[in-house]
Amino acid sequence: MDLIPSFSVDHTKIVPGIYESRVDTLGDALATTFDIRLKTPNQEPAIGPAAMHTMEHVIATYLRNHDQWKDRLIYWGPMGCLTGFYIIVKGRPAASDMYPIMLESFQHMAAYEGEVPGASPENCGNYLMHDLPMAKWEARKYVEYLEGADKDVIFSYPKTERLTLQDDQKFFDS
Ligand SMILES: [Zn+2]
Repeated sequence: MDLIPSFSVDHTKIVPGIYESRVDTLGDALATTFDIRLKTPNQEPAIGPAAMHTMEHVIATYLRNHDQWKDRLIYWGPMGCLTGFYIIVKGRPAASDMYPIMLESFQHMAAYEGEVPGASPENCGNYLMHDLPMAKWEARKYVEYLEGADKDVIFSYPKTERLTLQDDQKFFDS
């Protein structure tokens, strides 16, 4: 079995940032997936599921209504490991091109007041599982990180040795 690309990056060397994860071709068009990583994997607490869920709702709503991005956005959603998000957009922008909109999105989240959009039994599969204060706190932390981060580091995954098939298998077995 092949390791999917986002697993084949050495997670012990990843720092938070905005990384191209994969590029897919759909007919003549491209779709690019970025990993929006908020946490250093396995080195600090992951995000609580309720805060993650709230960030998913608030930022998805923000992006879906954004003049410049609403037509380019394909998908916004949480990573199962609760350390970040995936965003899929049309075309192939560079990771650094995603920086302004991600900064803006998390600034919006950090300052958000009021009802969480879509947090109702009609619109959500688990509408009681939200945590706006923690979502704001996590967003604020990420904004501060992005603003201060070394731009030579946060847009490119660390180069690692290509994993061998055996290593892949070990990864899956562990
Ligand atoms: Zn929901």
